[in-house]
Amino acid sequence: MNELKQASNLSVEVKPLFGLSLTELTAAMERLGQKPYRASQLQHALYRQRITSLDQATTLSHPLRDKLAAEGYVVGLPEIVQTARSIDGTERYLIRMADGETVETVWMPDGDGGERGDGSQAAEDEEAEDSETRTSSAPGFPYRRSTICVSSQVGCAVNCQFCLTAKLGIRRNLTAGEIAGQVAAVLNRHQVELGSTRGNYTPARINLVFMGMGEPFLNYANFMDAVRILTQMPIPESRMTVSTSGILPGIEQFATETVRPKLAVSLNASNDSVRESIMPITRKWNIATLLEALATIPLRTREWITFEYVLLGGINDSLEHAEELIDLVRGIRCKINLIVWNSGPNMPFHEPLQSGVSAFQKRIMAAGIPAYIRRPRGRDIFAACGQLKRTVESAPAPLIAIAPADTLAG
Ligand code: SF4
Repeated sequence: MNELKQASNLSVEVKPLFGLSLTELTAAMERLGQKPYRASQLQHALYRQRITSLDQATTLSHPLRDKLAAEGYVVGLPEIVQTARSIDGTERYLIRMADGETVETVWMPDGDGGERGDGSQAAEDEEAEDSETRTSSAPGFPYRRSTICVSSQVGCAVNCQFCLTAKLGIRRNLTAGEIAGQVAAVLNRHQVELGSTRGNYTPARINLVFMGMGEPFLNYANFMDAVRILTQMPIPESRMTVSTSGILPGIEQFATETVRPKLAVSLNASNDSVRESIMPITRKWNIATLLEALATIPLRTREWITFEYVLLGGINDSLEHAEELIDLVRGIRCKINLIVWNSGPNMPFHEPLQSGVSAFQKRIMAAGIPAYIRRPRGRDIFAACGQLKRTVESAPAPLIAIAPADTLAG
């Protein structure tokens, strides 16, 4: 019987521990008459050891674990219930929360770095390759480098016209534990070891991109709490990137954070009229307002803002659009990620011509602005940008369940 079922058999409220801060864990321990150091032990077990049930918190005594369980405390990690694996090694997971809501999370071995015009990889990828080794993508093998794409909400309210998640509407925000818990569940599945270097052992390099379902800046407090939890695993915030559609209050708050991921902005158009037609949020905050807010973010050494630009055939992919884009971002320390539109079921867009994509990229690079074409990952399993969740609900055929749910989690 899993811990949730066990806890719900007791007549007490089920209380997930995963996602609580040290202050909250300390308060919980104090309520049970325990010393504060017990909270630190539990914090270590939750976030460093990534335990999946209280039995595994062996630094706590048996009676204390029993006491926690009797009070309704559970680890409460979300559970991988379905997996699809692409021929390129990408895996797409359907992850279920305690209330039965599901989101999607994607594992991309070897990262999702883009390509320059000459076909070489992004700078951060080259840096990674210096010291790290690529290894097998099968679960159970040690990983040295991978990117996890994480969801922040169930559905999304932003309604970008090219995004399948938008078709769901917003169902609810994820909690901090549910956001960080997706990462823990995926790392456990792949038995990834994080942490300090020991002897010849090099810890895995895991990058996180908050680009799954939802708009993180419309769930700002929970998202930032999740970031703080993830840094304890430890995944440094410099290895995290959050993508926003341009939620101004979120950007303004983000500019004041001392611990924060890198920022990507889903721009997708070079002028307000095109952007409004594909991203209605532009009516609330136009491009000029958005760029003004971005200018207030104090960028760290070697940090830049990423502009994501989904190239939609005949909509935003002409050389005139490239010229406009150059004028918009000139003077901002930035790079452009060009994402070739992935066609989805019943979507009114088509893929741009490959020759047009190259010409667009070359024009931007000729202006001295770094531009990368994001390699499409997991196209055969609908794991690419904007394809999450909806495909599970509307077109189950492409999803290949490769293992029963209970063998995947933990
Ligand atoms: S692209 Fe992102 S912000 Fe836009 S609707 Fe989809 S999930 Fe929401």
